[in-house]
Amino acid sequence: MSNPVSLPTEKISENPANSPTSNFLRHIIDEDIAQGTYASRTWAGHPGDAQTQAGAAPDPAKIRTRFPPEPNGYLHIGHAKSICLNFGLAQDYEGVCHMRFDDTNPEKEEQEFVDGILDSVKWLGFGWEKYGTSHYYHASSYFDFMYKAAEYLINAGYAYVDQQSADQMRANRGTLKEPGKNSPFRDQSIEENLRLFRQMRAGKYADGAMVLRAKIDMTHPNINLRDPALYRIKHAHHHTTGNSWCIYPMYAYAHPIEDALENITHSICTLEFEDQRPWYDWLLERLIEGGLLLKPPPRQYEFARLNLTYIITSKRKLKQLVDEKIVDGWDDPRMPTLVGLRRRGYTPEAIRLMCERSGASKHNSWIDYSSLEGALREDLEVKAARAMAVLRPIKLIITNFEGEPIQCTAPVHPHQPERGQRSFLFSKELWIDADDFQESPEKGYHRLYVGNRVRLKYGFVIECTGFRKDPSGSISEIHAQYMPDSQSGTPGSSNYKVKGVITWLSTLDAVAAEVRLYDRLFGQPQPEAAGQDFLAALNPHSKKIVKAYVEPTLTNAHPEDKFQFERFGYFVADRKDHAPGRLVFNQSVGLKDSWGK
Ligand code: ATP
Ligand code: MG
Repeated sequence: MSNPVSLPTEKISENPANSPTSNFLRHIIDEDIAQGTYASRTWAGHPGDAQTQAGAAPDPAKIRTRFPPEPNGYLHIGHAKSICLNFGLAQDYEGVCHMRFDDTNPEKEEQEFVDGILDSVKWLGFGWEKYGTSHYYHASSYFDFMYKAAEYLINAGYAYVDQQSADQMRANRGTLKEPGKNSPFRDQSIEENLRLFRQMRAGKYADGAMVLRAKIDMTHPNINLRDPALYRIKHAHHHTTGNSWCIYPMYAYAHPIEDALENITHSICTLEFEDQRPWYDWLLERLIEGGLLLKPPPRQYEFARLNLTYIITSKRKLKQLVDEKIVDGWDDPRMPTLVGLRRRGYTPEAIRLMCERSGASKHNSWIDYSSLEGALREDLEVKAARAMAVLRPIKLIITNFEGEPIQCTAPVHPHQPERGQRSFLFSKELWIDADDFQESPEKGYHRLYVGNRVRLKYGFVIECTGFRKDPSGSISEIHAQYMPDSQSGTPGSSNYKVKGVITWLSTLDAVAAEVRLYDRLFGQPQPEAAGQDFLAALNPHSKKIVKAYVEPTLTNAHPEDKFQFERFGYFVADRKDHAPGRLVFNQSVGLKDSWGK
């Protein structure tokens, strides 16, 4: 397949299996455990502030990590990386990983996404039950504490209500080169700040009228410490707290607090948050100082996000593909979402393998999509039952065959005899793939053409004797003679030397099936590359539906059963549409990497 290939701007690692998978986070955790950094923590059995945790039993978890998605879309392969890291490290170090919804933003959050996310994390093989409790949390259940902490910061002189407009605030923030300017409201009295903040909370002001800001340093070289916003006014309904709040905490304020209340030890996030770390530490130090939280605080560590070529992982853009019906929903088998990959036939094991191999690094890089496909092939080569399928059927008549059909057999798996045999018929009329015949054979073509012999896999050797065309000029049937003494598995089978082997089915027992052939959704390694509209990179040939035939054993296939269609690759019975009377298979991945070749 030929595709326009644009040169990647960052390094693409062809084979992450061979690159050092040193996971620097493990070194940090090893060190923390050796030094007993978190040994003094106590845990009341649930998240809570200093008062709740003080005097409770020692925390049974050696470490606590968390996976904190915002419920505003379905999870994608990038999230899988974060899930595998956080849940994986917790497993390896006798810890717990909390499943936490970062639902502090009242807009764009839906129950459908909450359910979809939980489902995908479980499907990947992870859970949040430990020590007899479910570590399943919502950031929104900490709103009371966050509010209390904000009042504390005001009272301690660390926060003020700013009535500048958003534009003024932006203008006064300064730039990387220029310091910011103090707000005229910065030196308001503590009483005035408290009064205004309480009125904000009481709903006295319109959205955007004012914000609560931390009071740090408007000239700080790190812009994140130039009096960051803590609370904004938003008269909006929230999916768990309803209409109780009309002010909502900013993400940067909420996240460190969520971690601290949950006793998180290692708060792992992507590199873009590196500059937020000093703020994260500043906030938690203030709240510890004020006696609202206990020591030691959680620490933030940043790793490079997973960038895979040929896909996009921005939730907003994935949503656009769904909304504009460019794909058939979030679980379209071409989508990089976990629901999409699942429907495509990906296994949790394959996804975990790829995530594990890609390691955790401090440097952004691109990983070639073929590493994900390779991981799936590795997993399915062992697991998938073999089956015959004819994807572009054309009739083959065995002109010298008369009488009863002959039973042929083949192993369910060539290297696992214990999985038994499958059987299917050989008869006068067969289906073969249209690609397995050439009227004028090109050089090096060893399959069927007039005068050539091939083996029908698990069947007989045949010699092509002719073909027929329909009035439109296309080939309608092919004729051949078979060698009755050449059946596979019998002594006579070695009487004939052939160069080509083709797959086939008998018209007597072949079963009709819809097969959905998929290719990559984008034709370029970096569809979102700078300045380009990602829609321009769409591969127009990413989906093709064919009316195929499959061997009779597949009538018993259940949704999500995976097969290797011999010679064609791996296929999965569709999760949604496959049913006893209507067989539907999705192409998962080819037998070898042929992209771009
Ligand atoms: P998006 O930009 O797609 O909306 P997000 O980071 O805003 O992604 P969240 O729901 O906030 O999505 O992410 C939950 C967790 O998953 C975060 O801890 C985030 O760091 C992590 N994550 C998201 N994308 C990736 C990625 N490509 N690689 C590794 N981790 C990721
Ligand atoms: Mg986000």
